[in-house]
Amino acid sequence: MTSDYRTMWRELNLDLNAHDALLNVLGQGYQDVFMNQRNRPEGMKYFDFVMSEVHGLRIRELLDVKKANRKIIGSFCVFVPEELVRAVDASLVGLCTGADFAMEKVEQYLPSSTCALIKSAFGFKLGKVCPYIESVDMIVGENTCDGKKKSYELLGALVPNLYVMDLPQVKSLKGRELLQCEYMRFKAKLEELTGTTIGVDNLKKGIGIVNKKRAAVQRLAKLRKAVPAPISGLDALLTNQVFFYDDPQRFSDSVNKICDELEQRIEQGLGVTPPDAPRILLSGCPMAVPNWKLPALIEQAGAVIVGEESCVGERGSRHLTDDSGNTLAELMEAIVERYFQIDCAIFTPNQDRLEHIRDMAREYKADGVIHYGLQFCQPYQIEARTVEESLKEDSIPVLLIETDYSMEDAGQLSTRINAFLEVLEQ
Ligand code: SF4
Ligand code: SF4
Repeated sequence: MTSDYRTMWRELNLDLNAHDALLNVLGQGYQDVFMNQRNRPEGMKYFDFVMSEVHGLRIRELLDVKKANRKIIGSFCVFVPEELVRAVDASLVGLCTGADFAMEKVEQYLPSSTCALIKSAFGFKLGKVCPYIESVDMIVGENTCDGKKKSYELLGALVPNLYVMDLPQVKSLKGRELLQCEYMRFKAKLEELTGTTIGVDNLKKGIGIVNKKRAAVQRLAKLRKAVPAPISGLDALLTNQVFFYDDPQRFSDSVNKICDELEQRIEQGLGVTPPDAPRILLSGCPMAVPNWKLPALIEQAGAVIVGEESCVGERGSRHLTDDSGNTLAELMEAIVERYFQIDCAIFTPNQDRLEHIRDMAREYKADGVIHYGLQFCQPYQIEARTVEESLKEDSIPVLLIETDYSMEDAGQLSTRINAFLEVLEQ
């Protein structure tokens, strides 16, 4: 990182010492987890570069966007419709983080029994180490789980620009109406913030941009059905994580380039692991950068992750938005239709998710499913039992993992993963 970036970080009011410490840990973690893998596709070099510049060049680009009088929106959830953000020529960046930071300060605000994802967002804000949260013009929170919706009441006092979106909890007619009303309210808020009116043309353009990047990650996901798997789960997860930060056009092109390379590998029968390596489907809570602990342990044990049933994965990107409507009302309806299909565990009941996990396990030829639940995440922890029962009907072995962001349980997790892989091998 150049000294130039230090000026930029100082102007964003980051704590430079704490930020240096974070970057050192991040850089070392990345090196240990990603750069030691074998047979990585050449195209992953782009993602290595993106990660090396995630607090540098990418922030500079976003600040340039702001200088050009365009807005940056930050979000914590895949329910925030990026199509509307792109329609007003603004950028959307993810604000979820996957590492513990400034926990003593965080626990002055939140109970220690709050999930790591929420605590981490507070830690990055209170520790002054996140250039994204300091750069955005508006932060969108959403009423999903209890932890998130109550914590936004506190976050609102820490940031000047929080906007909270209400979301349904039941897939009923009334639930859909609520989502529609909230997306109309969000559209009006974006129009007010940017001075741009959303109409048919710019909304179609916004839908096109977002569909393109979702189509690229869908293409990559499909290629992982091949035996042997042509790319590691870690590298595929990384592309899904970068999805939330990068310029969409550049991201789509880079993912498609990897897909071209993977198609050649598949033709030649080449994989990242031997063909008999256990194939794992990972299901559950989303994994934000730099939360790589569990996938790294699974793949270091000799298995290969072939899919992520997660918001940083298929749950977040498996549906495109229909752009065939000719009126604003039709396009808005298509957006509601698309997002109403997201099967997050905050919904009750959530039968679609159970079926989707079973479908994924079959399609990706998974030998077993590892369900990842963050400690204190009630929606996913409680649903884990139902997921296990549902997979039993297809005789698919399941390992339920409950963990957090610390490395303290790495040894114990490794032992459980190895035992699970032995069962699969038998
Ligand atoms: S798991 Fe639920 S709350 Fe979290 S990002 Fe996904 S949809 Fe949003
Ligand atoms: S991991 Fe669970 S508890 Fe944490 S924010 Fe997501 S849904 Fe809420």
